[in-house]
Amino acid sequence: MSRFWTPLVQRLDPYVPGEQPQDQPYIKLNTNENPYPPSPKVAKALRDFDAGRLRLYPDPESGRLRQALAERHGVHPRQVFVGNGSDEVLAHSFQAFFQRPQPLLFPEISYSFYPVYCQLYGIEARRIPLREGFGIAVEDYSGDCGGVILPNPNAPTSRLLSLDDIARLCALQPDRVVVIDEAYIDFGGDSAVALLDRHPNLLVIQTFSKSRSLAGIRLGLAIGSETLIEGLQRVKNSFNSYPVDALAQALALASLEDEDYFRGTCRRIVDTRERSREALQALGFEVLPSAANFLFARPPGGKAGALYRALKRAGILVRWFDSPGIDDWLRITVGTDEEMTQLISRLEKTLSVAK
Ligand code: PMP
Repeated sequence: MSRFWTPLVQRLDPYVPGEQPQDQPYIKLNTNENPYPPSPKVAKALRDFDAGRLRLYPDPESGRLRQALAERHGVHPRQVFVGNGSDEVLAHSFQAFFQRPQPLLFPEISYSFYPVYCQLYGIEARRIPLREGFGIAVEDYSGDCGGVILPNPNAPTSRLLSLDDIARLCALQPDRVVVIDEAYIDFGGDSAVALLDRHPNLLVIQTFSKSRSLAGIRLGLAIGSETLIEGLQRVKNSFNSYPVDALAQALALASLEDEDYFRGTCRRIVDTRERSREALQALGFEVLPSAANFLFARPPGGKAGALYRALKRAGILVRWFDSPGIDDWLRITVGTDEEMTQLISRLEKTLSVAK
């Protein structure tokens, strides 16, 4: 606490990202990063990048990148917004669309940055309880509100809603923005971008951090009606005119030029995920069906906190959330086959000792 902080800053309860330890090498299965490097075309673009270009400010509108994204998603470039990670795109969306007297609706168990943005922007958060098996029922998101946001697939539960459900949700709130956070959509779901023609209140947010192996460049995007994107541009241009640096723009473009590689690594992760799910179930874990690059798993006996610590001592990092309703579950990022084999054999040992 400091008397120099404003009352708002004193009240903040900032987001705590998953550990990025620098002390020793870990098998890192805790922050949903991709275990494979980005496309070789990205590596080439990095080698070929002219450092002299860094003298100048980047294109403030990321024109070429937005054009390429628009082509990939079959929309107009004026329907595409890019920012410094999808976290920044989310933050601008909260300010552009959700800062209203009515509460913002989101699932009780969901991305833990949402309540933090609510605090930062003075938005009332209304957390909607999940149904049986961590399911989301879209009827629960009706009525007067300032907007709706949910990840699809949800995090950390990995459960997926159908496009029919998303369309029904948008129709329930025609006068409010519905944000679908598709950070993990490339690992098994259909993007709600397909619904944009019919739902001008829908904003879809995606990231290059997971399926494109580019968490290190911080590139996120939103796709929506031109009106919604213009709203985001107004906030961005009142905050930071150059959120996406020149190197990030060049590398993201190179990534988009290699769809085969992108699809190939996604497929490998999905295969490894399904094998790992079976192996965890064979060890007595309850594992939710996953459409993401992580598994949400309840160890036999539920002692997830102790297991998280035992794995960490053994050099394997997974994510454990010490919060009500999910504190006997682990969120395990899908790594390479080799990493997952090591995880499973360490779990076999740890669980047999605990018996
Ligand atoms: N949304 C969800 C659901 C996430 O899990 C994450 C990753 N922590 C993000 C958004 C943010 O991703 P990034 O800022 O790396 O694009």
